[in-house]
Amino acid sequence: MTTLEKGSVRVRIAPSPTGYFHIGTARTALFNWLFARHHGGQFIVRVEDTDKERSQPEFEKDILAGLEWLGLKYDEFYRQSERGEHYRKYLKKLLADGKAFWCYHSKEELGIEKAEQTKRHEALHHFCDHKDNPPTDKEKQLIRLAVDRNIEKIGWHDLVRGDIEFSADTVSDVSLAKDLDTPLYNFAVVIDDYEMQISHVIRGEDHIANTPKQIAIFRALGVEPPQFAHLPLILGADRSKLSKRHAAVAFNQYIEAGYTPETIINFLVLLGWTPNDDKQELISTQEAIEQFTLEKIHKSGAVFNPEKLNWISNQHLRQLGDEQLSSLVLPFVQRNFNQVDNVIVSRLMPLLRERLEYLDQIKEFGYFFQAPEYGPELLVWKKSDAVGAKQAITKVLGILSGAGEWGDQKLRSRLDEVATTDFAGDRGAVYWPIRVALSGEKFSADPVQIMLIIGQSETANRLQTALAKLN
Ligand code: GLU
Repeated sequence: MTTLEKGSVRVRIAPSPTGYFHIGTARTALFNWLFARHHGGQFIVRVEDTDKERSQPEFEKDILAGLEWLGLKYDEFYRQSERGEHYRKYLKKLLADGKAFWCYHSKEELGIEKAEQTKRHEALHHFCDHKDNPPTDKEKQLIRLAVDRNIEKIGWHDLVRGDIEFSADTVSDVSLAKDLDTPLYNFAVVIDDYEMQISHVIRGEDHIANTPKQIAIFRALGVEPPQFAHLPLILGADRSKLSKRHAAVAFNQYIEAGYTPETIINFLVLLGWTPNDDKQELISTQEAIEQFTLEKIHKSGAVFNPEKLNWISNQHLRQLGDEQLSSLVLPFVQRNFNQVDNVIVSRLMPLLRERLEYLDQIKEFGYFFQAPEYGPELLVWKKSDAVGAKQAITKVLGILSGAGEWGDQKLRSRLDEVATTDFAGDRGAVYWPIRVALSGEKFSADPVQIMLIIGQSETANRLQTALAKLN
C-alpha cells in the first residue's frame, strides 16, 4: 500500500446540477469522503454548473441536502459558474503559448466529419487544419487544444483499473471552450482540479474516456495530473447499468422510505469495495473510514441488490435501543396515520425490530394504529361458515371479559381450548376470524400479539365490530 502523507489528500466530487441527487453520485461522494477521512485529507464539493440551460438551483439544493443527510461534510465548496475569471486566464495563456487555437469549423462541417467517422467505425476525433492555417473568411467557433498527432499514446496508471492507454487519435484536438467566457466540461474540470490541488480524482468509470483528454490539457499547462481512480459501474440484477427499471435511483426516495444514513452508507460502501474481512456485511461508518483504501475497490461492476439493502437496514434497526428506534418510527406513524401513539409504538418495539426493513414500512402495520376496514366475508374461515365465525368471536369475547385472562400464554391456551372443544381441534376456525377482526388482513402479525399491543378494550371493540358485520 502506498503511504500518503497526512494532509496530502484532496479529493472532490463534481456533481452537475442537471438532475436530482442519485444513488451513483451518492456512492462516488461516499468513496471520496471516506478516502479523505481515512487519510486526514480534504473533501471538496464543486458544483459543475457551466451548462446554463440544464443546471437548476433546485437540483443543487437536492444534492447538497442529500450529502448533509448522509453526514458527508465537505471542507470546501465551489461553483464553476462563479469561477469564470480562472478559466479565462488559462484560455488566454494557452492561446498565447500556441497550445490552444481557434477552430472555425461550423457545427454542420463537424457533423459531416462525425458521420463519416461513424461510418468507418472510427473513434470520433477532430484534428483541425485551422491550427496552422486559420481561414480568413469564417467565424471563430471553438477554442481547441493543439494535440500532437505524433504522441503515440496518452496513458495513466489508474489506481483501480491499472494501466490504461489511449491513442492520441482518439483524443485529438480537444475542445476547451466556446469562447473565453464559455469553458467546456473537460477544460473546466482540469483548471479546477489543478487550482484546487486535487490529489486524487475518484469518479465513475463512465469518465474514463474523458481522462486522456484531461491529461492532455494538464500537459499543455505543464503540470502533473492528479492520480485517477475510476469506480466500477453500479448494475441492476440483469447486469445492465442501474436504472429506474431495477430500483429507485433518486436518492430522495431512500430518505422518504425511511432508511437511516448509517444503513445507506453501509449499503453504498459495499457497492464496489470490500472491507478487510471480505465476508463482513455490516459495517459502521467509523469502521469504513478506518478501513477504506483504494486497493480494495473492485474493477468489475457492482450489483445493486434491494433485498440486501433491506436486510442491512433491518440489521441496523435491530441494533437500536427502544428510545432511538421509537423516535425514528414516530414521524412515520404520524405521516401515515395522522397520529402519534407512543404507547402502541413502545409495545411494538420487539415486533418492529424483528420485522421492519425501513421505517415507512410501518404503513403495513396500520391495524395497530387504527381499526381495520374489511368486508364481512373475509371473517369466514375456508372450512367453516359465518355461523362458525360468529361463534368463535363470541367465545373469544367471553374469554376477554373473564378476569385474569389477559396475557400471552393464557390467551393462547384459552383460544386453543375453544378450537378443541368447539371446532374439533381446527385452530383456523378460531384464529382466522380473530385475525381478520383485529387486522382486516389474511396475513398479519400473530393475533394474540396484536391483542396485547392494541390492548384489551380495543380488542373487544374490534371483535364487537366484527360480530356486527356478521349479523
Ligand atoms: N460533472 C461530472 C458529472 O456529474 C463529474 C466530473 C468529474 O468527476 O470529473 O458526471
